[in-house]
Amino acid sequence: VPSARTIDGKAIARAIEERVAREVEELKTRGRFPHLVTIQVGQEPATELYIRNQKRRFRSIGIRYHHLNLDPETDQEGLLSQIRSFNANPNITGILVTLPMPPSIDPIRVQQEILPEKDVEAVGPFNLGNLIYNRGEMGPCSALAAMEAIRHAGARLEGARAVVVGHSSLVGKPMTLCLLRELATTTTCHIATRDLREETLRADILIVAVGKPGLITADMVKPGAVVIDVGINEVPIEGAAPGPLAERTTRIVGDVVFEDVAQRASWITPVPGGIGPITVALLARNTVWCAKEQWQGG
Ligand code: NAP
Repeated sequence: VPSARTIDGKAIARAIEERVAREVEELKTRGRFPHLVTIQVGQEPATELYIRNQKRRFRSIGIRYHHLNLDPETDQEGLLSQIRSFNANPNITGILVTLPMPPSIDPIRVQQEILPEKDVEAVGPFNLGNLIYNRGEMGPCSALAAMEAIRHAGARLEGARAVVVGHSSLVGKPMTLCLLRELATTTTCHIATRDLREETLRADILIVAVGKPGLITADMVKPGAVVIDVGINEVPIEGAAPGPLAERTTRIVGDVVFEDVAQRASWITPVPGGIGPITVALLARNTVWCAKEQWQGG
């Protein structure tokens, strides 16, 4: 049975991080220090894990990283004024606000407050807008990470049929724009798509960003396709019982049934170890780009 090659996200991430680290080193010799501040309102286990990974990677790259955990009672105005003070602080070169936020806070309003040149996740209207105009290299990190993975697989995008499953503002839609930029013929699927299988079966390149384990099965994949799984889901380990012996009762999987789809695809990203690490590496790259933008001429 032909089996797909696995795209090693960790290796791709390390190569990006090495380049970013060299750049950070060079900036330091000129007394320049990129500095990212992440802001979280309240507690959220998934976010804590995300932040812990980021912190570790940023430290090893040499980028200053500071995490601010605000009280869960913080209101929108409180969060906005915190962002304004970081906007005004020349020592802070990047700002990231983690999701989800308490229901009393409008995340889009919050993202709009971050200065475009400090918006390292490229989630504000300016940076998302530039994706439409094909301008600049900044973009939301997970969409850029998927593009890196596709490039690594050596897939030709021009004229290829690409299908994106999921149309969120931060992953699916930017993904579609990135693919269009490379002249792929791009279809975006979502909750109202009439026959998902009919669409995915046509894909030379299939990108899935939904958050539903088991959504994409082998019968939905064209033989030889490149399959990029952006989903991150925590699922129970069958038979695992909480207790002194079984330490873990859950594991992380993507949206694609990996073992089966790997029998059909030519290349596939695993979860974990695929898009996740590349996303963090590109966040570091975006952080350095943003800092340099602020220092230009000064
Ligand atoms: P999201 O905002 O919940 O968006 C999910 C999207 O999937 C929505 O557009 C939704 O459509 C669509 N959808 C839901 N059910 C569907 C179905 N049965 N068929 C087709 N489309 C369906 O999530 P997100 O922020 O885009 O993230 C997606 C996944 O990627 C999550 O698992 C998240 O954890 C993961 N993620 C990973 C990274 C990374 O670095 N690897 C980064 C960010 C996110 P409707 O809105 O119409 O319901």
